[in-house]
Amino acid sequence: METKYVYLFNEGDANMRNLLGGKGANLAEMSKLGMPVPNGFTITTEACNKYYDDGEVISDEIQAQIMEYLEKLEEETGKKFGDQENPLLVSVRSGARASMPGMMDTILNLGINDVVANTIAEKSGNERFAYDSYRRFIQMFADVVKGLSKKRFEEIIDEVKAERGIKDDLELTADDMKTLVEKFKEFYRSELGEDFPTDPKTQMMEAIEAVFRSWNNERAIYYRRMNDIPSNWGTAVNVQMMVFGNMGEDCGTGVAFTRNPATGENKLYGEFLMNAQGEDVVAGVRTPKKIDQLKEVSPTAYDQFVEICSKLENHYKNMQDMEFTIENGKLFMLQTRNGKRTAQAALKIACDMVDEGLISTDEALMMVEPQQLDSLLHPTFAKEALEAAEVITSALPASPGAGCGQIVFTAEEAKEEADKGKKVILVRLETSPEDIEGMAVSQGILTVRGGMTSHAAVVARGMGACCVSGAGDIEMNEEEGSFKVNGKTFKRGDWISIDGSTGNVYGEAIETVPAEISGDFERFMEWADKRRRLKVRTNADTPKDAKQAVDFGAEGIGLVRTEHMFFEGDKIKAIREMIVAKNDDQMQAALDKLEPMQQKDFEGIYEAMEGRPVTIRYLDPPLHEFVPTNPEDIKELANEMNISEAELNQVISNLHEVNPMMGHRGSRLDVSNPGIAKMQTAAVIKAALNVNKKHPEWNIEPEIMLPLIGDLAELKYVKKLVTETADAILKEAGSDMKYHVGTMIEVPRAALLADEIAEEAEFFSFGTNDLTQLTFGFSRDDAGKFLPQYYAAKIYENDPFARLDQNGVGKLIEMAANLGRKTRPDMKLGVCGEHGGDPASIEFVDKVGLNYVSCSPFRVPIARLAAAQATIKNEKA
Ligand code: PEP
Ligand code: MG
Repeated sequence: METKYVYLFNEGDANMRNLLGGKGANLAEMSKLGMPVPNGFTITTEACNKYYDDGEVISDEIQAQIMEYLEKLEEETGKKFGDQENPLLVSVRSGARASMPGMMDTILNLGINDVVANTIAEKSGNERFAYDSYRRFIQMFADVVKGLSKKRFEEIIDEVKAERGIKDDLELTADDMKTLVEKFKEFYRSELGEDFPTDPKTQMMEAIEAVFRSWNNERAIYYRRMNDIPSNWGTAVNVQMMVFGNMGEDCGTGVAFTRNPATGENKLYGEFLMNAQGEDVVAGVRTPKKIDQLKEVSPTAYDQFVEICSKLENHYKNMQDMEFTIENGKLFMLQTRNGKRTAQAALKIACDMVDEGLISTDEALMMVEPQQLDSLLHPTFAKEALEAAEVITSALPASPGAGCGQIVFTAEEAKEEADKGKKVILVRLETSPEDIEGMAVSQGILTVRGGMTSHAAVVARGMGACCVSGAGDIEMNEEEGSFKVNGKTFKRGDWISIDGSTGNVYGEAIETVPAEISGDFERFMEWADKRRRLKVRTNADTPKDAKQAVDFGAEGIGLVRTEHMFFEGDKIKAIREMIVAKNDDQMQAALDKLEPMQQKDFEGIYEAMEGRPVTIRYLDPPLHEFVPTNPEDIKELANEMNISEAELNQVISNLHEVNPMMGHRGSRLDVSNPGIAKMQTAAVIKAALNVNKKHPEWNIEPEIMLPLIGDLAELKYVKKLVTETADAILKEAGSDMKYHVGTMIEVPRAALLADEIAEEAEFFSFGTNDLTQLTFGFSRDDAGKFLPQYYAAKIYENDPFARLDQNGVGKLIEMAANLGRKTRPDMKLGVCGEHGGDPASIEFVDKVGLNYVSCSPFRVPIARLAAAQATIKNEKA
């Protein structure tokens, strides 16, 4: 049987969203509900996909169906394309499954030519209106279908106005509009070497093709990537009879929401303009009126609209965003969709609708975008101040929040200035672990290099500090203490502001306001907690971050990166002594210094977590990260260490590796320096014993996690160092405290051999940052340089470091989980890479049955909601 590619509005309904797109399905649904919707038909998303499969041509079969439905539309409306008596005009609009506002193209007033314009002028008694519609159509068609620049059309309008000595578009007469039509056609011909198409059928087919094409314009591709919309969904195209809001004073057009999209207040919210077409409302040339005022101007239409609003909201059980037009006093609905809203409004609407008995708590949970909650957790810029400020450059929104401060270029400067009570923004080419303290005291971090999982981004998200990374337009002049961007120079001490939610950078101070968490938020999160199957832990390295995470609802720590503790104060010195040690005694002396410091760190974390589980991961990075790179610092360190510069340089050069991320790091450090694992074990066990003594009710059972394991024998070797040390301490203390040793799964080989590894590992935590890096063979620090070309070439749609690659890396996870549980059925499994805070990745993690995700503190609420949504979705599947 022939595939049906075209549906009349009255043949579809809201359940056919995948085929008809959101707009088409909702127009069909409104028709079905008996609402006044201008007649039309929808060309399916399948037709769009076929268009691409066929090499960007609309097949004869689809063209024939479109023509057949055009005839049906003509019958329904009693109007005809190109007719002298009763001409049909249509709009041609895109409509994908998910709403993509403004991303694709629209053409209005299609079907006009000289004859039709004349008829409309006569029938409406409004010549100006007819020719205004005509010239707008030529403009839109030329732009959308033929790619001619809009600018030249605007210039032509300006020229005509200048000739006539007028300033305002509204002063253009019917004759001026006619002149514009002629001039536009002339320009069209001279640019394209062909006449403007007079046949409405030709106009329509070309417009439909242009909408299909717009599915793959740059804006749309970018939007899809940001919003997780697969490119194989395609867009539908809606062809709908035009109704006119600009035919006279009893005509108008408007947009409205059933509730306030900014605050959530349950009150109709919107605006309208009489005698206007849709674009006039948005363009801001005339000031629209508040929707309530429609009551006075067009009472019948208003009453009907209010009734429809309430019907639609009840029907869709969600706040609706609607477009309407009034033609000669008669109301027409042109669109309805679930309205976009702020996080605050989203929570209020969800809670109110539950209280109104309109939706269940499950439905409420599905109504809020997890990612949106983020804006409720960080300080934000005052809205008006932000709108007035100038963007100097834009880069990756690496860690959300609003940062405003004076420029500093080093972590030391950041600390010095912050100590003086100043607010600073740390601007770096890229950050390294040495910068952590400086980052922690800054209002925000701006880096020239680096992607979404660069050091700066990961650490900033962990701290909840805002960060914009990869600002490649910035030319740094560190020597002079300045940078240049888009022709402007900024010096040390100048004020800038960065927006970690948009990636925008501003060359001035912008006022910030602290985040407010309302009662709805708490109530809503309780529903999420009741519903989710996955536990949510956090990645935290300090008591402060740990407490923050607990405030946000973390149930434990899934990853303490112990190396982050080594950079503070005396610890960096001790670890450097360890690195330059020439013999076992010197090594042991350095480790002996480190142990009590580590123990204190762990005690702090155990105290902050008040008995919640804490997984401590042993030293992971290659040791070169702990030694300085510039000659002056090297000299200073050599002095401090009491060795010659030459000796220190030799140590540093011995640490050099071609691929340090695939080098001497993780448990490999313990295999070559067993003292490190022993020292860390002593610190963990003693810390737990101490804290348990103070708080026996917490009953802490340390969870020790070994990084980057690739083989059972390797795990056995390092685990033995741990158990021998731990057991000796426990024996001496006369304690029967339990502890657990597990491993990260970060090396593909460990995933492949997970059944063997589980013989020794009590738990697995998937380190999806390294697992992604090593599965793709992409450096997590450098992939940002070439991934954009992969998106452009449609090889990959997403950054695999931000969104778990379910096909490849996900397959390894699922396999390793199953293999691990075959050996050890009650094995606890989690994810502690960056993906642990990403909603789409969390849905996958839930599906494959892991026990928990662990993410940075500021992502904990997002993960809690995403986990609840995952449970609801996966139960249905
Ligand atoms: C990982 O690799 O996913 C991980 C959590 O470890 P890190 O990011 O510290 O390498
Ligand atoms: Mg790792």
